This record gives sequence, structure tokens and C-alpha cells, in this order.
Amino acid sequence: MEFKIKYNKWSNFLFFVEMLSGWNTRLSPSSICNYWETQFGKLSSKEKNALNLFKRACINYQHSKNFFREAFFNKENPWQYLKNNMSLERYNILYNAYQVLKNKFKQIYETDLSKIKSWRSVLPVEKNEKIIFKKLNFLYNTNLSFDDQSVDVYIMLSSPKRTDALAMQNSKSIILELSQQKQTPNSIKHVMCLIWHEVIHLYFERKYYYQLIQKKIANKKKQDKIKELTACSLFPRGVLAQDFFGLNHNLQNSIHYKVSKLASEKIVNLSKKYIREKQYFDESYIKRINLIISRF
Ligand SMILES: [Zn+2]
Repeated sequence: MEFKIKYNKWSNFLFFVEMLSGWNTRLSPSSICNYWETQFGKLSSKEKNALNLFKRACINYQHSKNFFREAFFNKENPWQYLKNNMSLERYNILYNAYQVLKNKFKQIYETDLSKIKSWRSVLPVEKNEKIIFKKLNFLYNTNLSFDDQSVDVYIMLSSPKRTDALAMQNSKSIILELSQQKQTPNSIKHVMCLIWHEVIHLYFERKYYYQLIQKKIANKKKQDKIKELTACSLFPRGVLAQDFFGLNHNLQNSIHYKVSKLASEKIVNLSKKYIREKQYFDESYIKRINLIISRF
């Protein structure tokens, strides 16, 4: 398992626009946008308009997310790539947004660049990764080879209040909203636990466990919630974060904002029981976690 820690200007530019335009709703746009506004002031109506057009041009584009990720994450010159691969009209909308917003972006990115670099220098935390991988292979009933897996981890801008991560299934990569997070021995470990949480989503839960959930639980929202809470019971605040990184804040905080502290505790204990008794996640685990969610 190789963690390739990366950063680049263009992936951050896409992130910047996604956040400001409200295109990306999976991370935490309001926290970061409010923070940016304290840095560069309110957006003008010209800037807001350019962002709206950018968002619309992207949303209506076929295979939208992957295409734009490819352009901004993997190409040295995304503009050339976009120009070659989309209509001129659409390209002009995107490029215009860049022209309108580039100074504000530059201000934020250049301020945070040394922080991004500093995070890159301390990640990944090389600690027990083979044993962790083996544990996950066992719990999720998979048979993945440690040596064959690798994941690209992109460090992104963030607000001082929040650190978050998101797995991108198609490109087997993770984005980490991180720059403003203070570096302490524990925060570095916590970020590593966030990465492991996303690695579960990318590699471990899809082959067997999620399919089992789909068989047992009819409601799609509930399926996703169970899948998410299972991963949360291990990392970043769960039992494996405790076992391998010595982080036991799971007792003070809920493992996920959608469940109570009491439910969190019960779910973590359930996973702990499975780990201690050397059992992988099975039907009965799903039933029990489902019961916990509905009762507490
Ligand atoms: Zn998750």
C-alpha cells in the first residue's frame, strides 16, 4: 500500500471554484467560504456571476466530475486540455471564471502554500500499515494484496476550523481539506486516520461488505449510513485509531454527526467485539448496527 501525497495549484483552483460556486456539496463549503471571505472580502456580483456560469457549464457537461478532475488534477496545462476537449463557448465560460477569480485564488493559495508543503513533508505517517491493511482485509472479508495498492492523496486548502477528506472512487484518490489545520503530534495522526477511513471506502468495503448490506437492507440511505458508520467505527475516531495511533477521542465525540454519542459508543463497541473475537463483518453485524441506529 503506497500513499502518494501530492498537491498542485490547479487541483486547488478547481476546489476553490467548486467550493465558492456551491458545486461541491460533499465537503464543507460554508465553513471554508466564510473563512476565505475574511481574507479577501465579499465576492463582487461580477465574481458571483462568473462562478454561477462556471458551475452551470460544469454540471451540464457529460461525465462532469471525472472530466474536470482529469483536467485539473492530472494535466500540467488544464486550459489546453479543456480547449481541445469541449466547445469553445463552454471553454470561454470556464476561462473567464479563472480570469475573474485568479487574483483572489492566488492570494489564498500563496498564503497557504507553505502550510500545504509542510503537511506534505509529514505525511504519510508510516506506522503499522501492513498490520492495519491485514486487519481491514480480514474485517471486510477481502483478499487484497498490500503491495499492489496505491492511493494518491491531494492536499487542499482548508479553513482553520475544519479538516475533511473525500474519496474519489474513479481515480482511486483522496482529497484532504487540510492546509490550515495546525500540526501537532495528534493532529498528524488524526489526518492519517482520515486517510485510512477513505482507503476503506476506496478499497475494502466494495467487494463484499457493501453488497451484503444491499442484500439485507432495502433503503438506499440506510445502506449508505451503515456503510459509513462501519468505517467510522474504525477510523478516524474508532477502534483502530485507538489501537494503532493511540487516539481515543472516540469516547468524547460522536463518530459521525448523524448519530448520537451513545449510538457511537455502541457501534464502536460492536466493532471492537468483532475485532477481539476475530470475526469479519457479517449479516449479524449489519442487523445489530441497524438496531443501534434505530434505537439510539
Ligand atoms: Zn466516509
